[in-house]
Amino acid sequence: MTTAHSPRCFALLPCAGSGSRAGAGQPKQYRLVAGAPMVRHTLAAFAAVARIAGALVVVAPGDEALAWAGAAVTVADCGGATRAESVFNGLNVLLAQGARADDWALVHDAARCLITPALIDALIDACLPDAVGGLLALPLADTLKQADAGGRIAATFPRAGKWLAQTPQMFRVGLLRDALAAHAASGFAGITDEASAIEAAGHRPLLVRGSARNFKVTYPEDLVMAEILLRSASA
Ligand code: C5P
Repeated sequence: MTTAHSPRCFALLPCAGSGSRAGAGQPKQYRLVAGAPMVRHTLAAFAAVARIAGALVVVAPGDEALAWAGAAVTVADCGGATRAESVFNGLNVLLAQGARADDWALVHDAARCLITPALIDALIDACLPDAVGGLLALPLADTLKQADAGGRIAATFPRAGKWLAQTPQMFRVGLLRDALAAHAASGFAGITDEASAIEAAGHRPLLVRGSARNFKVTYPEDLVMAEILLRSASA
């Protein structure tokens, strides 16, 4: 007798970067924004989505900064040298802990702390019926320039049809793990997001419209913007 199995959705948050571009001090995902470490806001958004069966946060080896997270969140200190390696290691932890190959992983940058439950739900709605999966992304609003070594424009690209990749990126645990494994020997060279690994494996991920508020905190001014948006949401 076979038992019907509905694929579950797991959040996987790579949280093992040093984040030096956001300014001096601790890694950016632990910087305080609106009274809490950035990653805490990120986790709160996923915790508010009923279809998320569990959350795994991948931190750097020996990192104990998430001691406050509690039993609802699994913390694995298996972070790697690159974001892709951190995600690959996290997927292996998910599988070792009982995730199935056809379960979904929603991989999300810990430093995108403005993600909302509504955006996560929109991605799940779009990807659950899809054979490949997809990602939140935003149509490019500005004209794209290629710079030369001297800081002058070498080329201008038409922006039509171009999108900025955001996260979460939602793919089957097994498909994504295998797609990333193909790049382990090269140190995951050129794999800057999950979709690029899935594309290299011959698939075409779905672009799901995200939001400008779902930016990745990268530069010092991003912290100011994140603070304003988070405080206005809780006002
Ligand atoms: O550095 P970047 O902005 O690309 O980082 C995106 C996300 O990936 C952050 O949440 C960061 O903590 C994570 N990361 C990681 N392991 C690395 C590098 C980045 O988990 N080696």
